[in-house]
Amino acid sequence: MFLLKSIPKVDKFIENDKFNDLALSLVVSITQEVLQDLRENILKNKVESFTEDELVQTVLQKYDELTKPSLQKLINATGVIVHTNLGRSLIDAKTFDKVKEIVTSYNNLEYDLVKGKRGERYSHISDVICRLLGCEDVLIVNNNASAVFLILNTFVKKKEVIVSRGELVEIGGSFRIPDVMKHSGAKLVEVGATNKTHLYDYEDAITENTSMLMKVHKSNYSIEGFSSEVGFKELVKLAKEKNLIDYYDMGSGHLVDLPYGLDQYEPSVLKCMQENPSLLSFSGDKLLGSVQAGIIVGKKEHIAKLKKNQLLRMLRVDKLTLALLEENITSVLLNKIDDIPTLKMLFTSIEELRENALYMQEKIKDISESEIIETKTVIGGGTTPNRTIPSIALSIKIKNYKQNKMEKLFREKKIIGRIQDDKFLLDFRAIQKSEIAQIINIVKEIADV
Ligand SMILES: *Cc1c(COP(=O)(O)O)cnc(C)c1O
Repeated sequence: MFLLKSIPKVDKFIENDKFNDLALSLVVSITQEVLQDLRENILKNKVESFTEDELVQTVLQKYDELTKPSLQKLINATGVIVHTNLGRSLIDAKTFDKVKEIVTSYNNLEYDLVKGKRGERYSHISDVICRLLGCEDVLIVNNNASAVFLILNTFVKKKEVIVSRGELVEIGGSFRIPDVMKHSGAKLVEVGATNKTHLYDYEDAITENTSMLMKVHKSNYSIEGFSSEVGFKELVKLAKEKNLIDYYDMGSGHLVDLPYGLDQYEPSVLKCMQENPSLLSFSGDKLLGSVQAGIIVGKKEHIAKLKKNQLLRMLRVDKLTLALLEENITSVLLNKIDDIPTLKMLFTSIEELRENALYMQEKIKDISESEIIETKTVIGGGTTPNRTIPSIALSIKIKNYKQNKMEKLFREKKIIGRIQDDKFLLDFRAIQKSEIAQIINIVKEIADV
């Protein structure tokens, strides 16, 4: 009971000089929590003694943890370029600087500078996208999931959308296409078998309630062997004949020719535009390599209807998104691939990756055992399902640490590697050149030299 009595009073405790420059209300709330914990632990006989200094230190530590940013920079040495858990696509630093001035000032987000009156938020980006893709109009929403939702809610609410059973996918974070479709108010009509869908399956399912034929990119799986699906071209043709809307949720939707023959597994937006579709949608931060957004392109009359849906107010994007997207799309139009980190990483040659690995190996040879490994990686983010691209990794062993321990030590220093065949690997595919010196320093820290 003596211990309980010596617990300081909050009012007195917070007068400690060490709290002078801190936010008082936060100090009070943390102090209350710390003293309450102490009281409970004393009652449970878990505490034999304490000093006021120790309590101050605990409060300061908690204060620090709470006020420092939780979101922080990492080095991605997993090899996966569009890593969903590590922030997907990177924004180029120079691009970000250009945009900084716009978003830290007032701007013409919804102001027409020529007419001197209210303008349209999406107008800034429509010219450049329409020129690049040859579409009639464009709409940007929060992400591609929003695009799917908005499109179905606008055109298929209380009506029917026909989609192949083989394309009803669950993508990361348990986002299920069928569930999103149901929440939009659309009635889903699944056709075909898991492995095969024919054009007549769609045709037979069309009723007077049908308003859309939809295709979904099979983002994270592929069906091998005895399988077939209906191409987008045929689907658009059928939709036109039957006076229905066709819509392709392309998932990643890239705008440049991909290396390693990947184009056959990942639909190109330009190629799909040649079919003269009603609507397409794709993500801003997958293979497009920009910011989180859902990009909807297609016919003016359909986009106009989407713009009238009140839901758009909830799904609309901020100036930061529009400014970054405008910069990135312009870079694609000007063929400046190096300004888009996702594409730059994808196009980096094996020779360059090997050079980087050799450079690092040389710098750490006295403090670690390492080996250059020719490996394979994936683009990630639901693009090019089940297809790999070549990469180069350095397997590293420091002291006698096991691979799990190595993984943890590097992770604690904010380098995320991967374990493969009982080895800890740093894959160079998604490591930035500017990060190599940092990694070398961290290897030194871990080797304790
Ligand atoms: C990734 C993906 C989505 C969701 O896109 P987000 O931009 O993450 O919302 C929807 N459909 C498909 C086919 C996808 O691959």
